[in-house]
Amino acid sequence: MEQNEILAENPDPDSRIFGLTGGIGSGKTTVAKILENMGFSIYYSDARAKDLVNESAYLKSEIIKLLGEDAYNKDGLYNRKYVANIVFTNPGKLDVLNSIIHPAVKSDFKNWLQNREDKEIIFKETALLFELDLDKECHQSVLVTAEDNARSKRVMDRDGKTYREVLNIMNKQMPEKEKIKRADFVIYNNGTLEDLQNEVEKVKSEIMALQF
Ligand code: ATP
Repeated sequence: MEQNEILAENPDPDSRIFGLTGGIGSGKTTVAKILENMGFSIYYSDARAKDLVNESAYLKSEIIKLLGEDAYNKDGLYNRKYVANIVFTNPGKLDVLNSIIHPAVKSDFKNWLQNREDKEIIFKETALLFELDLDKECHQSVLVTAEDNARSKRVMDRDGKTYREVLNIMNKQMPEKEKIKRADFVIYNNGTLEDLQNEVEKVKSEIMALQF
């Protein structure tokens, strides 16, 4: 996206929103934490979406209409496993589910943004930023990427998944090459955590040098 392209629907004219994304195990959450430690505000879209499906009565009723009562457990909490199983084999339902959840996250982000004082530069962590064309809701994008081997090893260590399970997920995501083409800034995470910290510092300097 062009650096000074104007957002069609800018949620806050005082803010510059950077979409932060990366495939499974790329290190985007680690980068978000580094940025947070540097003092930036981060909106975690995926974590908020997970909360909103439980907090919002409207979302709950729409999701039950789409996927049935079993989309929520007896205790009233969202049944992620059940929903994942249905949408895994039914991409049409996944699209509708995303179209139900997305507007709720969008308005939650808008509220979050309005309540911030330090909102000149905001990072919005979103796993499917490019896949769902959500980069159009950000001024610019930052991609965290790493070699497949490093990513799969990290996810196997973190989640106890098998190599094949990680590979299946990686193969369903947008190819890294395509994401690299779309991103305005790319952070390569193939080394140590210290290397990653240095890479983030570099991108921070480039962002701070931009004229908004
Ligand atoms: P997901 O989309 O699967 O949630 P993610 O992109 O948010 O993944 P992280 O959770 O940040 O990725 O990183 C995956 C795992 O790899 C974490 O356990 C993290 O601590 C570890 N990790 C990230 N970068 C490095 C690195 N450079 N060296 C060692 N471990 C790393």
